[in-house]
Amino acid sequence: MDACPRCQTSLRPDAKFCPECGTQVHVQPVHAELVETRAAPRSNLPSPWSAALLSIIPGLGHWYAGAPKRGLIFFVAIVGGELLGIDFDLTLIGDIVGIPLGVGATGLWAFCAVDAYRTAARRRAESA
Ligand SMILES: [Zn+2]
Repeated sequence: MDACPRCQTSLRPDAKFCPECGTQVHVQPVHAELVETRAAPRSNLPSPWSAALLSIIPGLGHWYAGAPKRGLIFFVAIVGGELLGIDFDLTLIGDIVGIPLGVGATGLWAFCAVDAYRTAARRRAESA
């Protein structure tokens, strides 16, 4: 049985104030509002849609999604082949990494965005 710290009157266990002198006997906890409100670590994972949008610059979406080497292959294949006029024979490399490099720069660019999306989605799935 609790007693009032001021007048020693016996108190009900759920009493917040002493019925005799009015002293507050159970201080309300103030820590409840200090609960951690930081964002969950999940939000640090790459967003699939952001990865796809970043693929406007070939390879940037993959770099963002955590696959920079794969992004570099896309960058060289699309930018190198289209803008610089360098005729790479990347078909062999494409077979190794699973990228259809024979579809031409435009088709490859579209595939790049889809692949960046998948890469980011896979990262999220692995971290879940
Ligand atoms: Zn009291």
